[in-house]
Amino acid sequence: MSNSSRYDRQTRLPMIGQSGQQLIRDRRVAVLGCGALGTVAADILARAGVGYLRLIDRDVVEWTNLQRQSLFLEADAAAGRAKAEVACERLRLANSAIELEPIVADVSVDTIAAILDGIDLVIDAADNFAVRFLLNDYSLKHRIPWVHGGCVGTSGQVMFFTGQGKPCFRCLVPQMPPAAAIATCDTAGVLGSATHAIASLQATEALKWLSGHPEAVRRRVWSLDFWGNRSREVDFPPELCETCPACAHGELSFLEGGADETASEPQVLCGRQAVQLPAPPTTAVPLDILAKRWLDLGAVQSTKFFVRLTLPEQETLTVFRDGRTVIDGTDDIAKAKSLHARYVSG
Ligand SMILES: [Zn+2]
Repeated sequence: MSNSSRYDRQTRLPMIGQSGQQLIRDRRVAVLGCGALGTVAADILARAGVGYLRLIDRDVVEWTNLQRQSLFLEADAAAGRAKAEVACERLRLANSAIELEPIVADVSVDTIAAILDGIDLVIDAADNFAVRFLLNDYSLKHRIPWVHGGCVGTSGQVMFFTGQGKPCFRCLVPQMPPAAAIATCDTAGVLGSATHAIASLQATEALKWLSGHPEAVRRRVWSLDFWGNRSREVDFPPELCETCPACAHGELSFLEGGADETASEPQVLCGRQAVQLPAPPTTAVPLDILAKRWLDLGAVQSTKFFVRLTLPEQETLTVFRDGRTVIDGTDDIAKAKSLHARYVSG
């Protein structure tokens, strides 16, 4: 058996065959988020032969990720490497015949067009509602399909959105829920096997569509509680679709109305002692200059995607190429701003 037989077991499936495999190879997919869902879905799609995969994540690998994010190893957490970069590196070893592009950036109203440029389908592996609402608007505007997945605790749900109109994500969730009302993996925990299952279901719906079988795609919301042994499929409530601001009334307020302001504000990063400061409006100092300037101040790490300074007091400042700074070791925004002023913008 040779390299050319790589997809043999997949092309034997009558619904895929050589023609379906060719369609899969010709498609460009973005995976939004390289966490528990994104790493698993990306792994399946890379091995299935999706010709171009763009992996997007703003974060670095942490020890708490290793329980479920199966592309990452201890060494990645120890070095705090960029998740998108590591994920692409691992997948390249699994399939050298496809193109993989890592993007280390925050998805915001300002960046989403560049991040999803030229993409045929998006896997939603985001960890927050702001990105999902923005993606929903983008999908409706550009008529791009996406596969929603979410998983917290031992439950999750999956849904395919065509981007061609009704129904859309806002038919289900009309307004952004208040942050305090949302259970996240950081607060509620999550079962690693549940995230693998949900990501696998997302990849399955994606492969149906990618291989030229939109008719096979599940049209209802599928919710599963893996621990409680419950599974249900629900139709979109027609009355909600009728009144949906996005797909019924064309109000793409997250994309066009600037409703997503989170990216331009400092944020305390959920579940860890860290603050993210947005890119400054003025031209930032080039990363290599920053790294040189820091040499006498502490341990300096330089990569293609960021430079990092670890101060003797243990705080670390990571300045990403897109201009964001993440300051670990504090959840005090004022303190983070003062460290930023002293070491980055000063
Ligand atoms: Zn809708």
